[in-house]
Amino acid sequence: MRIDLKTSRREEFVDITGLVARAVAASGVSSGAALVFCPHTTAAVTINENADPDVVADLTRGLADLAPRDAGWRHAEGNSDGHLKSSLVGPSLTVPIEGGRLALGTWQGIYFCEFDGPRSRHVSVTLLAGPELP
Ligand code: ZN
Repeated sequence: MRIDLKTSRREEFVDITGLVARAVAASGVSSGAALVFCPHTTAAVTINENADPDVVADLTRGLADLAPRDAGWRHAEGNSDGHLKSSLVGPSLTVPIEGGRLALGTWQGIYFCEFDGPRSRHVSVTLLAGPELP
């Protein structure tokens, strides 16, 4: 299943927890895993706190410290910082499904991470159904 997104800034963390949860609920899978995959080279997906918005602000700042935009990169497109952040954060997540729901921790949310927006983007969600365990 594909989730289409439109980002609005060059760097942005978009909380997609509800969209992924809806896909799980619609599938009827009660036990298994959701594979969330980002097919872009200047974006990523991650799980982190979705209670205090300062957390994603700090993640954005910390990643900019690790991968400054202007650092004499070779890639002529001017978005090497985005490519680097994409590889640091990673292209996929696997989230357990228990009782028909995403088994996330209390403070965890699933984020789509934009590092070279604004753009039209998407993630794919693949549901892996497993046996119901006691
Ligand atoms: Zn590029």
